[in-house]
Amino acid sequence: MKKFAVIGSPISHSLSPQIHTIFAEQNNVQISYEAIEVEEKDFATKVDYLFKDGYSGLNITLPLKEAAYSYSESTSERAALSESVNTLCFRGESIFGDTTDGQGLLNDFEEKEIIVKDSKVILIGAGGSAKAILPSLISAKPKSICLINRTYRNAEFLERKYQSTFTNIRALEVESELNEDADIVINSASAGVLQEELVLPKNIFGPESKVYDLSYSKKETPFNSYAKKLGVNEIYDGLGMLVQQAALSFEIWNEYKPNTQKIEQKLRA
Ligand code: NDP
Repeated sequence: MKKFAVIGSPISHSLSPQIHTIFAEQNNVQISYEAIEVEEKDFATKVDYLFKDGYSGLNITLPLKEAAYSYSESTSERAALSESVNTLCFRGESIFGDTTDGQGLLNDFEEKEIIVKDSKVILIGAGGSAKAILPSLISAKPKSICLINRTYRNAEFLERKYQSTFTNIRALEVESELNEDADIVINSASAGVLQEELVLPKNIFGPESKVYDLSYSKKETPFNSYAKKLGVNEIYDGLGMLVQQAALSFEIWNEYKPNTQKIEQKLRA
């Protein structure tokens, strides 16, 4: 039986074990998939140990995606571009890293009919997942991308990194006030999951904005509740993306493309 796991901190809330078990059952593949708490300081030691212990693949989540990128001996092009890795496995004798977050998000956007092309997009957060999804967002040809992050210099770093390939990207301070409604507001900050306050610019949502929180929880996420309170009608959490990125990881490890239809509804039920 092949062994897999998702590692991160906090990890107890993770639905990845359930999702991968459903995918394996679809194809009668025998796998085990655990959620293992790993802190950043222990990353390399723990991952070395897991691969020595016979794990075939690992998913990497908050806050370890950048550490996983540094750990990888070779990576996909999309992981190299984003400097973020959420999927690790052996390729030959060496550790290969890939990121499925960006494509996972776009696949879920397609399901939900959220169209990035020619849209004004706000991306909150500049951590591992923001880095992972930015190249995919840019490839979908938005009109503009506005980056907002608690630590401004991290947003500014991303602005500088992508400005030569996409000129209409800019970083904005959280104390700013926005004059134009965004078409799509994506939250990739981990404040909700950490139960911390998230400071946001004034007028960040318009009534017609589509709001997508990468976080997910049984109850509505704090970010989505806040958006709703401010009059936003169309809000989504990151459960659909979670399913989509998991399907892409599963395919990398098992060379089998799982059927993602109805899994999101099943998990919510
Ligand atoms: P990282 O730790 O790499 O980045 C965290 C980001 O959140 C940073 O930009 C950080 O800002 C910001 N942040 C943290 N705390 C606060 C706060 N109190 N107020 C404002 N900003 C804050 O995490 P990831 O990017 O990997 O993950 C972020 C979220 O996305 C998590 O909730 C995760 O569960 C979710 N996610 C969901 C996925 C899905 O498939 N649905 C996939 C990937 C992620 P600063 O730079 O100032 O530290």
